Amino acid sequence: MTKDFWTLHLESCLRLQSLPGLEKHPVVNRLMNLYVERLKAYCAIPLFVRECNAGGPKPLELLSELQELGGWVFRKKFLPWTDKDENEVANIFIDRAYSFEEAKEGVRQARALNATIRAHPRREMAIRAKEMKDADSSLTWADVTERVCDCQHQHTESCTDQLKSAVSELNNLLKKYQEKKP
Ligand SMILES: [Zn+2]
Repeated sequence: MTKDFWTLHLESCLRLQSLPGLEKHPVVNRLMNLYVERLKAYCAIPLFVRECNAGGPKPLELLSELQELGGWVFRKKFLPWTDKDENEVANIFIDRAYSFEEAKEGVRQARALNATIRAHPRREMAIRAKEMKDADSSLTWADVTERVCDCQHQHTESCTDQLKSAVSELNNLLKKYQEKKP
């Protein structure tokens, strides 16, 4: 297996997965597991096959799944991105005895991933709401809205509607990826 940005990214996701406390967030946990499953499948495809699309539609399909799931797994932008971050990514490669050319390639891949993953705008709210409803089915949507809506005004029916639709989007996403193995 060729080591590249994606294998480093997998290593850091595996570290995140093993952090204590994640079991208290079952939805975050499920999303992370689905993301890592696909990331492992993507890393298992040889780099040259991914790069030249010789592997048929599979690498591209996995990549678009990683982008969709990534929008629910990561906060805000996937990585904050400045010149300083680019230097950091490059240093990770160089510290691990990669050549300058390999480090440059790693930075290019990290930048490309960063440009495609954007957090879902109601990610935080929808995940918290779903975890609350799953843990206590007696909670009404109005109760949940009261606790998670971040509109900073008096909550209205439209707050509840927006929350319900984000949670239903999240439920559909979980269902789709749980039924489909990478
Ligand atoms: Zn509100």
